[in-house]
Amino acid sequence: MGGSEGFLIGKALILLLLVPGILGWGKEGHYAICKIAEKYLTEDSLAAVKQLLPESAEGDLAVVCPWADEVRFHYHWSSALHYVDTPDFKCNYKYCRDCHDTYGHKDRCVTGAIYNYTMQLASSYEDIKSESKYNLTEALMFLSHFVGDVHQPLHVGFTGDLGGNTIVVRWYRRKTNLHHVWDTMIIDSALKTFYDSDLAIMIQAIQKNITYGWSNDKPSWEHCVRNDTVCPDLYASESVSLACKFAYRNATPGSTLQDDYFLSRLPIVEKRLAQAGVRLAATLNRIFATQAKIAEA
Ligand SMILES: [Zn+2]
Repeated sequence: MGGSEGFLIGKALILLLLVPGILGWGKEGHYAICKIAEKYLTEDSLAAVKQLLPESAEGDLAVVCPWADEVRFHYHWSSALHYVDTPDFKCNYKYCRDCHDTYGHKDRCVTGAIYNYTMQLASSYEDIKSESKYNLTEALMFLSHFVGDVHQPLHVGFTGDLGGNTIVVRWYRRKTNLHHVWDTMIIDSALKTFYDSDLAIMIQAIQKNITYGWSNDKPSWEHCVRNDTVCPDLYASESVSLACKFAYRNATPGSTLQDDYFLSRLPIVEKRLAQAGVRLAATLNRIFATQAKIAEA
């Protein structure tokens, strides 16, 4: 690597560190969601996923789940697809009203992107190895990422504060913004405080909760009305409601968030990671079940 290249990459890394708030769940969150999803994939679905993954993933979906954040600057068009904002102080979400980018282009938001990439994967059913007009590897990586993002409450936050990005707070002693607290800080603090700084232990704990604590809720998490393949509008509605009830509450600009906030919000974060994982698996299972059926016919 040449010196200037190294410098540029260094510079890009610094830029990434300076704008962490807009990225969606941090790397850990996205990885955890996809690790959870992997456990609930059917055999057909797992085979289809493995066929679509890039070689670098070595058969592990979780490895590519943060990818959409890494290409945000390169794929400039994709940056509006990580979130959907609602009018200020409206604690509800409506696709027609809210799903657009800052230029007003319709369908360019996280829920629109989830519909789009689900459609791309589901419609390329003939044979996933045959030529499709879509890049299905990217469709899978985007879908897996955006199902995660739409479950982060502040990815469906208010337009005026950019989903909490402009609300400067302290997380214990560190200066940051509210969006970043929900993307990364709550998970980071949980890892350090409860999970021996080991993400695998945190993922195991969430999986255990799905099996025991939330086992009665899991079927309703997986279910979409009208037998739809995916239902991101529901996930977004839940998110904005959680944003109002938990994320924005007691987190005004300049406030210091510590134990009270951390301990009462961590269960929300862990449940959203669990729901995102379960729903991503259910969606992929529906997409690839249709494919298997059509292939058989
Ligand atoms: Zn994202």
